Amino acid sequence: MRDSDDAGEESEADGGGHGSTVGPGADGVPAESDPGGTGIAGGSDVDIDIEELILDDGSEEPDEASRGLFDDLLEGEPIFENKEVLRPSYTPHRLPHREEQINNMATILVTALRGDTPSNILIYGKTGTGKTASAKFVSEELESTSKKFEVPCEVEYINCEVTDTQYRVLAQLANKFIEKNEAVVEERVSGLRDVRDRVEDPEEPAPLAGTEFDSEAALDRRLEELEADLEAFEPVPMTGWPTDRVYSTFFDAVDYHERVVVIMLDEIDKLVEKSGDDTLYNLSRMNSELENSRVSIIGISNDLKFTDFLDPRVKSSLGEEEIVFPPYDATQLRDILQQRADVAFKEDTLSEDVIPLCAAFAAQEHGDARRALDLLRTAGELAERDRTDTVEENHVRQAQEKIELDRVVEVVRTLPTQSKLVLYATILLEKNGVHNINTGEVFNIYKRLCGEVDADVLTQRRVTDLISELDMLGIVNAVVVSKGRYGRTKEISLSVPIEETEAVLLSDSRLGEIEDVQPFVQSRFDN
Ligand code: ADP
Ligand code: MG
Repeated sequence: MRDSDDAGEESEADGGGHGSTVGPGADGVPAESDPGGTGIAGGSDVDIDIEELILDDGSEEPDEASRGLFDDLLEGEPIFENKEVLRPSYTPHRLPHREEQINNMATILVTALRGDTPSNILIYGKTGTGKTASAKFVSEELESTSKKFEVPCEVEYINCEVTDTQYRVLAQLANKFIEKNEAVVEERVSGLRDVRDRVEDPEEPAPLAGTEFDSEAALDRRLEELEADLEAFEPVPMTGWPTDRVYSTFFDAVDYHERVVVIMLDEIDKLVEKSGDDTLYNLSRMNSELENSRVSIIGISNDLKFTDFLDPRVKSSLGEEEIVFPPYDATQLRDILQQRADVAFKEDTLSEDVIPLCAAFAAQEHGDARRALDLLRTAGELAERDRTDTVEENHVRQAQEKIELDRVVEVVRTLPTQSKLVLYATILLEKNGVHNINTGEVFNIYKRLCGEVDADVLTQRRVTDLISELDMLGIVNAVVVSKGRYGRTKEISLSVPIEETEAVLLSDSRLGEIEDVQPFVQSRFDN
C-alpha cells in the first residue's frame, strides 16, 4: 500500500558503498582474475582506453572478469561518506530551528497520553519548511511514549498527494486499523488458549485464578467471540465498495477498542483540491459517534489559503489549533545543512563557501530546506564527477543551474499543447533574431504552427492569457509596453535556456512532427 512520499527513493546506488555486493567473483568468475575483490584496491591502470573497450569485441576472449570500465570510476576518494542523509527520504533526529513548532505540537498532543482527545491541528507552511519532518518526529515520539506508559495511542500518517480521494483515504485507514486490530486479537487469543491448556491440565489446581473468567464456559465464550471477530475482519478493496460501506468499516475498525487515534493528513490541500472536503467532514464529526475511541486530526498544508474552500464547520473543527512553519532564513539553512553535511561528507571535502552559498540560494527560493539539501547533494555529485577532492563554490553554482534547468524541463514537458505551441512560436522568433517580440508576432507564428500540427487555433485574447501563464511559470518574461495611440502590447522574451527548452518541446510527439521550421518564420516576414 502506498503511504509515503518517500516510497521509491532508496534505489539509486550511492558512490560510497560500491563493490561489496556486485563485485566480480560473486557469480562464479574465478577469484584470481580480480585479486582485490572489488577492483578498487589494485588501482594500477587508471586510464581506460575507451577505443579498446568498444572496438575490442573479443573474438574469442576468455571469460575475463572485467575490462576496467568501472575501475577508474571507483578510483580516488569519493566525496560522500553517506549520501542518503541528504535525500528527502531521510528523517533527521534533530530539527534545528523547529523547536518552537515541535513543542507546540507536543503540548497539544500530550493530551492523548492522558487518555483524552487532543485538539485538531492545522499546520501551514511553504514546501521545504520542515512540516513533514517535524510531524513525523513528533508522532514517533508520541507512539514510543505511549508504549512506555502503556496508554493506547496510535498515529496514522497519510500522504494525500498520493492517496487523494475519500475512498482511498478511508480504505487505507480502515485497512491499517484492521491490521492492528487483528494483531491485538491474535495475541489475546493465543493468551487465552494458554489458559485453556491449563484448564485441561489435571495438575493445575486453579487454572482460572487471576484471570477475568469465573468459569470454563465464560472463557470459552470469550475465545469464540474473539475468533468470530478475527473471521469477520475484512480488508477494504482499493476500489469497488460504496463509500458509506468503506466509512462504516473504517469507523468500526477505529472503535474496536479503547484508544486515542491521531490521523495525520499530509498535503491535505491536495486532497481538498482533488476531492473536496467530504473526507474531512466525515473525519471531523466522528468523535460524537465513537464509543470506545477518540480521533484527532493533524492536517498539513502547503497552501495557506486552502481553508477558504472548506465548509465552515470543517474549517472551525480542523483549525482548533494552528501552527505556522515560517520559511528558513539563510543562517538557519546553514545550520541545517551543516548538521547533515557532517554525516554526509568525508572530512575536509567541503570548501568554506559551499554551505553558505547553498543556504543563500535556497533562502532566495522561499527558504526551502529541501532545495538547500538538493543543492548540496548535487554539488557533491558534480565534484565527484569532476574527480576533485573537494566541493567548491563553482560546483554549487553548477548545481543551482542544473536544478533550475531540471525544473524548467519538467514544467515545459507538462505544459498543455496550446501553451507549448505559444512557447515554440516565441522560441522561433528569438532564434531568428527578433527582439522585443510582441503578442501579435507570437500569434502569427502560433497560427502557422497550429496548422502544421492540426491543432485548433485559439483567439489572440486566449494566446495573450497563455503568455501570461508562461510568464507566471517563469518561462517567459512579458512586460506591458505602451504604443501610444496604438494601444498597449506585451514585449516578450524567453527566461529559459533556448536550446534545452526547444529540445524538450520537440520531444513532444506532436511538435516533433513539425519539420524544417525555418520557412514559417521567414514567411512571416514576407507578410
Ligand atoms: P515540508 O514537509 O515542509 O515540505 P520537509 O519536512 O519534507 O518539508 O523538509 C524538507 C527537507 O528538509 C527534508 O529532507 C527535511 O529532513 C529537511 N529539513 C527541513 N527542516 C529541517 C530542520 N529544521 N532540520 C533538519 N532538516 C530539516
Ligand atoms: Mg511535506
